[in-house]
Amino acid sequence: MLTCSCCNQAYPETEPRWRCRCGAYLLLQSDRMFTRDALSGRPLTLWRYREALGIERDDSIVSLGEGFTPLVADALFGQPVLLKLDQLNPTGSFKDRGSTVMISKLKEWGVPEIVEDSSGNAGASVAAYARRAGIAARIFVPASTSAGKTAQIRMHGADLVRVDGSREETTRAALAAASQTFYASHNWSPYFVAGLKTLAYEICEQQDWQAPDWVVAPVGGGSLVLGLYLGFADLVRAGIIARMPRIAAVQAAVCAPVYEAWRQRLHEVPEVDKRETAAEGIAIARPVKGESILKALCESGGVALTVSEEEIWATAHLLAEKGIYVEPTSAAAPAAVRQLVEQGLVGTGSRVVVELTGMGLKATDKFLAHLGG
Ligand SMILES: [Zn+2]
Repeated sequence: MLTCSCCNQAYPETEPRWRCRCGAYLLLQSDRMFTRDALSGRPLTLWRYREALGIERDDSIVSLGEGFTPLVADALFGQPVLLKLDQLNPTGSFKDRGSTVMISKLKEWGVPEIVEDSSGNAGASVAAYARRAGIAARIFVPASTSAGKTAQIRMHGADLVRVDGSREETTRAALAAASQTFYASHNWSPYFVAGLKTLAYEICEQQDWQAPDWVVAPVGGGSLVLGLYLGFADLVRAGIIARMPRIAAVQAAVCAPVYEAWRQRLHEVPEVDKRETAAEGIAIARPVKGESILKALCESGGVALTVSEEEIWATAHLLAEKGIYVEPTSAAAPAAVRQLVEQGLVGTGSRVVVELTGMGLKATDKFLAHLGG
């Protein structure tokens, strides 16, 4: 069942719908859950958790073998960490976890064409999975989006629309186009968030079902933080893990609405002025699901943090020195580990997972401009 996050109106999962009639976003509510025993022998993709993903028929599944990315032991700022290399998903970003489930549902619904807006990675991911499903896609991106992402969208045969303006203006342009077709937005779709829950399942399964103490993740639209929270909540409810890990949500200091809400103890995310950031993937001034993000942080005993542009670039270099090439957006979360250490929130005995979201090759133009020459 799909239920409204605001008025509690319920809708069946059998009809195409991306928001409530009242205008609020929908949540996927289901009692279905996998058991640990059922997992043995299943392929190492996120579809091993399929009972929790809301797809009815096997022949609806549109997959590229996503999930089960490496969890690598390392250290950052003296803190032992496990780096989740989610940039190694099929299209080079963690968004594939959401796209595979969202596009599978659209295929199950028989939706022939979609509109999506993105800062780039979700657009590239949705373009790839839509193409694979035979669904026509029109993807709106801000004109400033990295060339690596726009080329990828075009190669997958999507109709790319560059919007001269902010990320917010890009969303408005996509919404206007969506009046004629289906709005398959990663920021709205309850199925996209359902796909992100697999990150929580996987982190625990890869550690022999031991939950970490902390998961550090970047937050923009919030699908990653919400997916983590809902996934860990599923595992607690099923008795598979004993307690919810704490979530540290990280934003760029120049665009930090979630952090501002957190700092001021607000229940809603305020609209903020934003300046340009190297972390283009999380430059969202007004996240649709702001209240749910705050609730997830609160209920997990988590925190919101910000990092400077200097810290983002320095951490991209730090990771590259370890052999890991991620886009600047993905350096925000590992950069914030320093503050967790300084604030005494983590220590040598803490199990800390840091989510790396997007591949460095996506942002070749930005790295060349940064490096000079
Ligand atoms: Zn409603």
